[in-house]
Parts: sequence; C-alpha cells; structure tokens
Amino acid sequence: MSDSERSIFARIVSREIPATIVAETDRVIAFEDIAPKAPVHVLVVPKTEAYRNVTELAAAEPDLLAEVVAVGSRIAAERAGGDYRLIFNTGESAGQTVFHVHAHVLAGDLSEGSLA
Ligand code: ADP
Repeated sequence: MSDSERSIFARIVSREIPATIVAETDRVIAFEDIAPKAPVHVLVVPKTEAYRNVTELAAAEPDLLAEVVAVGSRIAAERAGGDYRLIFNTGESAGQTVFHVHAHVLAGDLSEGSLA
C-alpha cells in the first residue's frame, strides 16, 4: 500500500503522526478524538487497515470487534463510571469521513445529545 493510500489512523498506529493514546493491546489502539464532542470522546481502532467499516469487521473478525467494544467499555468504566455511547458511522451519508473502522466512545454528561 502506498503512503498516500494509508489512513490517518494507520499513521497514528505507526506513530508517524501524534495522538494522545489512552489504551493499547496487540490488535487495538485507543486515542483521544482531535475534535471532542463529549467530555470523554475516544476513538477505538483495530490496528489493521483491512476493514473500512464495522460491517466488514463484524463479518470477517467478530472477535476483533468484541475486543474493540471491550477496550471502549473499559475506558468508559475508568473515566465516566461505566455509562457510554458507542457509535460506528458507516458510509459517507452516515457521516463517516475516515474509512478505517473506528468506534467513537462518548461518555460523561451527554444530556446535550452529543452524537459523533
Ligand atoms: P466524523 O468526522 O463525521 O466524525 P468519522 O466517524 O469517520 O466521521 O470519524 C472520524 C473522527 O476522527 C472524527 O471524530 C475526527 O475528529 C477524528 N480525527 C480525525 N483526525 C484525527 C487525528 N489526527 N487524531 C484524532 N482524531 C482524529
């Protein structure tokens, strides 16, 4: 894959661009969203660039999707008492802008209705 084809999240995985990393496993990385829409707004991302969206990930590697959920849940437990909103924007018309599957973990006071 050429450099120009690699996603911005792949460049965060390889430490080519900076991010505030809050959790990491062998297969998953989690970092602060650069434009937070809630008191806690973390992105949880499989390190592999193989899947553009959650539909592809769920079909191919459900255990990896479960790991994404587990990491997000743990972050919400540590930072916001365990309640959280988990969002996978899937497709351009649904607001997806980065086509490397990622979960938005939103937590804290969501009474203003913050959707990522
Ligand atoms: P949207 O931009 O509509 O939320 P996505 O669901 O594809 O679409 O989410 C991409 C997310 O990635 C956005 O919330 C955006 O703020 C975040 N983001 C983009 N670049 C970076 C970066 N370098 N570091 C952290 N977060 C980023």
